[in-house]
Amino acid sequence: LFNDFVQVVESSETLSSDFCCHSSQNSWYHYVAVKLGDGFAVTVRDITLRKKTELELQAANHRLEVLAHLDGLTQIPNRRSFDLYVQQELPRHQRQKQTLSLILIDIDYFKLFNDTHGHQEGDDCLVQVAQAIANTVHRPTDLVARYGGEEFAVVLSHTDAAGAMAVAMTIQEAIATLAIPHPSSNVSDHVTLSLGVASLMPTSETQTELITQADQALYASKNRGRNQITLYDLDDLAMPAMTLAARE
Ligand code: GH3
Ligand code: MG
Ligand code: MG
Repeated sequence: LFNDFVQVVESSETLSSDFCCHSSQNSWYHYVAVKLGDGFAVTVRDITLRKKTELELQAANHRLEVLAHLDGLTQIPNRRSFDLYVQQELPRHQRQKQTLSLILIDIDYFKLFNDTHGHQEGDDCLVQVAQAIANTVHRPTDLVARYGGEEFAVVLSHTDAAGAMAVAMTIQEAIATLAIPHPSSNVSDHVTLSLGVASLMPTSETQTELITQADQALYASKNRGRNQITLYDLDDLAMPAMTLAARE
């Protein structure tokens, strides 16, 4: 505080602030210092109780903030987090002239899974799939979110189409390894995914394109038999072109 008090004497300006005294069980004080003659006068008030309540409230708000961004069932980021992240990453990639990739994922025949195993097991399956997808991406700038009911989204910063396809294949493999039985599926004995991949260097005209393209690619994966990955072809804006064969 010494330098602050010198400042009061030199500038004649009143100073008031809070400080914590760690040597006396983290007590908090509020002081007001005013210039008086050649020196200064200071009043100090103990505000420990108020400060502790304030800090507890801050911590509770922080916990609420975290909860508001997480999906309650799967404990991965929710749709709100996804929307905010994409809104932030699109202009950032545009400024940096970098490629941003998006993978949209949908569990195949999940209604049939619920009908066969019951809703509770359906929920357990969603948790397992969400965690398996989340475990495939490791960069702090990547985001895995629950996009909708049985749909997930993976946002890959500074990643081109080849990189995104590699991640998509790792995800497909991870789900195959889980080997969750799905006897009523028309495409496999186990739970499978359809994936749509899109990559672009955003411009002001293409801000909404990324989601549309990944969605169209996902739709193509479904249309072409499910349990597969489709990469949206940038050269052919009307139709996604390349489809990787199913791995099973
Ligand atoms: P497709 O291969 O075309 O994707 O078929 P699908 O059955 O997966 O797709 P559809 O959209 O017809 O059904 C989605 C199902 O996902 C229906 C709904 O019961 C289930 N679902 C959505 N959210 C949840 C959830 O939180 N828990 C459970 N258990 N099921 C959910
Ligand atoms: Mg769906
Ligand atoms: Mg589905």
